[in-house]
Amino acid sequence: MTSWNIAVTGCGPAGLAAALLLHREGHRVQIYERFDRPRPLGAGLMIQPTGLAVLRAMGLDGAVLAAGARIDRLFGQAAPSKRIVLDVRYAALGQSGGFGIGIHRAALFEVLYREVIAAGIPIATGHAVTGAPIAANGRRDILLADGRREGRFDLVVDALGSASPLAPGGGRALAYGALWASLDWPPDAGFDATALEQRYIRASTMAGVLPIGHAPGFAAPQTAFFWSLRADRLEAWRNAGLAAWKTDVLRVWPATAPLLDQITSAEQLTFAQYSHRTLKAPAEPGLIHIGDAWHSTSPQLGQGANMALLDAYALAMTLREPREPSDAARHAIARRIWHVRLYQAMSALFTPVYQSDSILLPLLRDRIVGPFAKIWPANAILAAMVSGLIGNPLKPLGLDRQDVTNHLKDRTS
Ligand SMILES: Cc1cc2nc3c(=O)[nH]c(=O)nc-3n(C[C@H](O)[C@H](O)[C@H](O)COP(=O)(O)OP(=O)(O)OC[C@H]3O[C@@H](n4cnc5c(N)ncnc54)[C@H](O)[C@@H]3O)c2cc1C
Repeated sequence: MTSWNIAVTGCGPAGLAAALLLHREGHRVQIYERFDRPRPLGAGLMIQPTGLAVLRAMGLDGAVLAAGARIDRLFGQAAPSKRIVLDVRYAALGQSGGFGIGIHRAALFEVLYREVIAAGIPIATGHAVTGAPIAANGRRDILLADGRREGRFDLVVDALGSASPLAPGGGRALAYGALWASLDWPPDAGFDATALEQRYIRASTMAGVLPIGHAPGFAAPQTAFFWSLRADRLEAWRNAGLAAWKTDVLRVWPATAPLLDQITSAEQLTFAQYSHRTLKAPAEPGLIHIGDAWHSTSPQLGQGANMALLDAYALAMTLREPREPSDAARHAIARRIWHVRLYQAMSALFTPVYQSDSILLPLLRDRIVGPFAKIWPANAILAAMVSGLIGNPLKPLGLDRQDVTNHLKDRTS
């Protein structure tokens, strides 16, 4: 197998996983990251059975499970009626259904970053990438913000996230984002330690609690708490002050009181704005866009990091075949494209059901879809959707979710 000279740009889940997998395949990998010490932004996320299958193939599933919290169920109630409008259990997929893992972003980062460092993969930190022009022999250079030009790489992997300077812009900023905080898990507050729980009023108000296990630097187990907010109301939210906001949250979900007690400053809440964007040409000569650099959307279906891991795996396995890097990039994209298109479409469809000003969509959700979704086969379809398994993304990558379930069963039973 040929050993290629590869630049991986970005130290998110896509970049770190790609760097590690490509290094293990014997390629010469150089990572670039804009931060001085690569660091993840934001609170928690969910690893789904798809992402876990990739982590299992990398030998990192146990470490991720140990750092996170096993999630068996997604549960949502309308307020104040307490009508159950979302109740998805991974077990609806049968014995091999598996589970999700709620994890602090920093914990997932630590697991991947530790491996990258242990593997001795060079990381050029404090280097913002500004371009990747084609150089001699069709290879690519990397342009850095300080004016330097480095290269020449047989392949550049763009894992710079949704605002990648290596990809054409575009996309659509979504009206709603969310405030996120990482807080101590309140053991006696009555939350389900194995569920992502949400409360809604129509689609304009949503609060969520996701157990995320043991984040680096925190003694107590953590939970990610989020509150949906329209981006154009952020300033008004700041001006109204924390007390007014806490009154609103308690009206929707009184049990969150022990979480709100931990929030004493607006600085503890980070506003995340979402955008929906899918690149038309994710493979270019000597360049491949993976993860959010290829496709980004709202986290309503909880798939972004998992898709990033699948993209990275697809690239590494395709480069194992006797192909030139540009050809491998095209084939790697072909292995992933239907799954990506499907989930981008589903995300565009479902996001307004939970985050929008619509009156009709949440009414249909609460009165028709919610009750119907508890009955087979709708419950199994929803479980497959949340798991990331619709479109069978593991098959073209030669991965198997049953392996993961069996492997981890002992650790969690
Ligand atoms: C609030 C929120 C909740 C989410 N919840 C979930 C969830 O439950 N499940 C899930 O699977 N996904 C979730 N996601 C989506 C998930 O976080 C992203 O899909 C995932 O992080 C994408 O990984 P990535 O590596 O492609 O990009 P990123 O994580 O964005 O990483 C990009 C990296 O590139 C670096 N970088 C950027 N620009 C430059 C530059 N010019 N030069 C050098 N370095 C640069 C950044 O510093 C960063 O390290 C959520 C997202 C948000 C915002």
